[in-house]
Amino acid sequence: MSDMVTRLSERIRTTGPLTVAAFMTEALFDPKDGYYATKDPIGAGADFITAPEVSQMFGELIGLWAAQSWLDMGSPERFQFIELGPGRGTMMSDALRAARTVPGFLDAARITLIEASAALKSVQASTLGTSGAQISWSNRLEAVESGPSIVVGNEFLDCLPVRQANRHGGEWHERLVGLENEDSTKLVFVLGPPLGVDTDLIPANLIDLPDGSLVELRPGDQQILGAIADRFKNDKGRALLIDYGPAISEQGDTLQALRAHKKVAPLDDPGNADITARVDFQSLTQYGRNLGITPYGPVEQGQFLISLGMESRAAALIQAAPDTKATMARQVWRLTDPEQMGTLFKFVCFDSVGLPLPPGFSAR
Ligand code: SAH
Repeated sequence: MSDMVTRLSERIRTTGPLTVAAFMTEALFDPKDGYYATKDPIGAGADFITAPEVSQMFGELIGLWAAQSWLDMGSPERFQFIELGPGRGTMMSDALRAARTVPGFLDAARITLIEASAALKSVQASTLGTSGAQISWSNRLEAVESGPSIVVGNEFLDCLPVRQANRHGGEWHERLVGLENEDSTKLVFVLGPPLGVDTDLIPANLIDLPDGSLVELRPGDQQILGAIADRFKNDKGRALLIDYGPAISEQGDTLQALRAHKKVAPLDDPGNADITARVDFQSLTQYGRNLGITPYGPVEQGQFLISLGMESRAAALIQAAPDTKATMARQVWRLTDPEQMGTLFKFVCFDSVGLPLPPGFSAR
């Protein structure tokens, strides 16, 4: 049995079952044996693969998007270019290479990577070591110096801890992680106390579901959008968040654990599998609107990348190196095809007041 399971079961025996969010926080970020704290999980030989790791074109298009956004903000002499959860640093590295073509952008950018994992910080430092850019790290968005800002994040929101609630006896109850029995170390889901006032956090279209239903609450999304909204209060700013999930709030348990590209049960091996939950884009854009930052999207990934010029970028790369034709075609397919990442993954943008329409989005 792993140290993490021993510790979690002792904790549950002493202080009672944990919320799903507390369980996720431990499993992913415990400094000693949390999943992100100790591993470099991203890539073909690891546990999961992400869009920037599929193709350099992904980060390049994000870089051009960021450069256009900087122009839209009036080309501030100095601005914060912030990435949330940069993984291996690949997206930022590709973005900076592409954005270099826009005069002044790189000189104006102060780059900060928001990263909780010490293991990934050192991977990011080596990926970005040759970029020539000045990079800093921070654990929290709130701690980054104020000023005009462009914030980007791919697959960051999906690993923010979620709470879950079960409908039981006509009321919503917290779903908790407990032990199968007093002497066991096997983690199981158990029914917790009624949600009480937190029932207000359930998306409006899901509030009246019948007994046996399950919904998810996302305190982490609210916290991060709150930090973005504070940042955009006195300065121009634009944020682009990319993740997987439905456009309209849906019921159901979306916790997913991946180990070596295979799904495993979320409670089975905490610390050794990536645990994520789908992002609820309807709630996300609603939070943004409530906080006074203008939401755009969600736009499906396939449509977004193609509208930003992915096919012509692929054609240019093929022209420069004709033997990459099949590889490039495969990369475009993986990122844009509806059966691959093209529709499940979506882009949303949040703007401070007074900016023009962001690239890749249409007026609503
Ligand atoms: N954007 C990357 C990595 C996605 S994995 C890519 O597309 O490849 C999620 C990343 O977010 C990891 O780098 C993880 O360590 C980081 N992360 C997750 N939750 C975090 C938090 N609360 N604070 C800071 N970083 C976090």
